[in-house]
Amino acid sequence: MIEVIGFGIAGACVALQLQRAGHVVRVVDDGKRGSSHVAAGLVNPVGGRNFEPSWEVADAWAIALPFYQELGAELFQQLPILRGWRDEKDREKFARKRGDLEQWIEKVDDEGVTWKGGGWLDCAAFLKVAKEAFRARGGEVSERARGGLQVWCTGAAGLMRGDFLEIAHRSAKGEILTVKVPGWDEGRILTRNGWVLPIGAECYRVGATYEWDELDSGCTAEGRAKVEAILRTFTEREYEVMDHVSGIRPIIHRSRPVIYHEEGRGWMVNGLGSKGVIYAPRVGLEVVTLLGGDLKS
Ligand SMILES: Cc1cc2nc3c(=O)[nH]c(=O)nc-3n(C[C@H](O)[C@H](O)[C@H](O)COP(=O)(O)OP(=O)(O)OC[C@H]3O[C@@H](n4cnc5c(N)ncnc54)[C@H](O)[C@@H]3O)c2cc1C
Repeated sequence: MIEVIGFGIAGACVALQLQRAGHVVRVVDDGKRGSSHVAAGLVNPVGGRNFEPSWEVADAWAIALPFYQELGAELFQQLPILRGWRDEKDREKFARKRGDLEQWIEKVDDEGVTWKGGGWLDCAAFLKVAKEAFRARGGEVSERARGGLQVWCTGAAGLMRGDFLEIAHRSAKGEILTVKVPGWDEGRILTRNGWVLPIGAECYRVGATYEWDELDSGCTAEGRAKVEAILRTFTEREYEVMDHVSGIRPIIHRSRPVIYHEEGRGWMVNGLGSKGVIYAPRVGLEVVTLLGGDLKS
């Protein structure tokens, strides 16, 4: 029996991949809502300011996409992502890097570059479906850890608590708004300084802030103002704020996922950073490979 502690995206993927490999798995979750409940689920192959593809994105996404699709065809929505130009220097920077980015380019025009292969995962729906699938395959869900072989997938809460003493982190709080923008029929994901993600019925998720101090401060008026300012860079239309959430991205060295073992403590899977959707299914597979035969129960 393997005990997976925490059922965010990391724990869900680890638990399901271990189950698929034939292990008997118990999941333990404290019911608090981690960042997986907050995440917009954006999958952007070339995020950031500098036109850098996300680390090993093609390999990771080749594992993740079929993993999500097998759980539910509707969980991942493929959408074009318009990365709007910031200024002339930005366009020149893109022109210099274009050669490395062709596989992700759908078109380039005066608005910006449109990436293909991205979209968004409905993270809340994924967690629900994943738990159902886990139970349907005989998995046990418990509120209490009972010990034995444990894989800790406790996200930022675990990093801040110091579940694994040697792991330093630089986690970052983020705030997101859901807004309704009557009459706006933008169907693409828009990014530039921040992003807007269409979720249907004239509603959009907008984000996100980055805050490295006061991680526990939750939703703030300042955060809301920053996100509303991001929205204003994309549309001047009237809008209504429907929801405001915050969470903490679990960030370890270089924002890359970490699988770590500590004698007497067990395994840790953490550090999914701001791109958990891309990396979690592959990390789950890596756990299976790493622990493989020793753990067969
Ligand atoms: C504002 C914001 C926007 C984001 N947007 C995106 C995005 O668009 N795309 C993307 O890919 N990623 C995004 N992310 C990042 C994404 O949320 C994370 O990479 C991912 O959710 C991390 O998953 P996790 O399972 O490691 O942690 P979590 O989701 O935090 O899950 C950890 C779980 O463990 C439980 N737990 C903790 N301690 C214990 C314990 N002692 N016992 C039992 N259970 C415990 C918690 O309650 C929680 O359920 C965003 C994050 C934030 C904050």
